[in-house]
Amino acid sequence: MKRIQRLSPRLANQIAAGEVVERPANIVKELVENALDAQSSRIEIDAEQGGVKLLRIRDDGHGINKDDLALALSRHATSKITTLDDLEAVGSLGFRGEALASISSVSRLALTSRTPEAQQAWQVTAEGRDMEAQLAPAAHPAGTTVEVRDLFFNTPARRKFLRTEKTEFSHLEESFKRLALSRYDIGFSLRHNGRVIHQLRPAQRTVDREKRVASLLNPQFMDSAVHIETEAAGLRLQGWVGLPTFSRSQADMQYFFVNGRVVRDKLVAHAIKQAYRDVLYHGRHPAFVLYLWLDAKLVDVNVHPTKHEVRFRDGRLVHDFLFRALHRALAEVRPDAQLPSAD
Ligand code: ADP
Ligand code: MG
Repeated sequence: MKRIQRLSPRLANQIAAGEVVERPANIVKELVENALDAQSSRIEIDAEQGGVKLLRIRDDGHGINKDDLALALSRHATSKITTLDDLEAVGSLGFRGEALASISSVSRLALTSRTPEAQQAWQVTAEGRDMEAQLAPAAHPAGTTVEVRDLFFNTPARRKFLRTEKTEFSHLEESFKRLALSRYDIGFSLRHNGRVIHQLRPAQRTVDREKRVASLLNPQFMDSAVHIETEAAGLRLQGWVGLPTFSRSQADMQYFFVNGRVVRDKLVAHAIKQAYRDVLYHGRHPAFVLYLWLDAKLVDVNVHPTKHEVRFRDGRLVHDFLFRALHRALAEVRPDAQLPSAD
């Protein structure tokens, strides 16, 4: 009979990484969410070879204390919650304290940070089986840079599942779009192999927000979208829905955010589908960018590690609110305003 042994820290982290790190796009999501949680105002992303060779996420947020740097890379270490009650009304995007440990176990990761008060920056890496943290002085302005090189270099079985550079980059860019659509007050940039792909200034005014949406999605979407802003029973919905005349052959332009977090939810999808039922041809999909805001206590985001799923306390209420809001908005547009479909 085989004896029981404790997994090495690296192996335990690699197993945990299986849940959240499938490809560079997931890493971008985790690291940009960390930058957002750190109150950054500008976030720069550099990718090489679809993000597999290199991902560099640089922010101007509050940084990490030198004494906490080693902890940041270890599993179940977070500055975002301390009690189960905190989880009930979690306001930050992260809280599991797993992303950095997971990513660092399947790549060559370096975390460099400096708090505004610190005299200088420090860099931490965690190598070997025990992932013991190594600290070294570094040069960096206030804020944080995470550099992730050679994704899955040590896990060939996982590396095999990576697709072509082009495919990986398109997933990465999709991840970027969701993040950039989640916070208009933040400046974002994305570069791939040295080329600037997106450069987005903070957008406060509605016209600037619409410009951001147009540049990320498709300029035609904005030309044929209606703006929605409505509130009822503690629920608030804001955003843009594409007119039936701007329908898609795939559900590839659908962005739904709950309290600023991008979400895929059956109930939400159903409500939207119902609202478009009478105005879209069978097999066509609507395009939309929608933001739902509600009391954090009325929605559970702790359903899955990637947090793409949510659980509403009162699903019926949310469903009916969405259906009515969209149905009304679509009914108000004149059906004779025919435009060619987008694809
Ligand atoms: P979580 O986000 O769930 O707390 P992570 O592994 O993503 O877990 O990050 C661990 C901790 O490292 C965070 O709680 C935070 O304190 C710190 N951290 C990570 N990234 C940044 C960043 N860009 N700026 C400041 N602090 C960061
Ligand atoms: Mg995190």
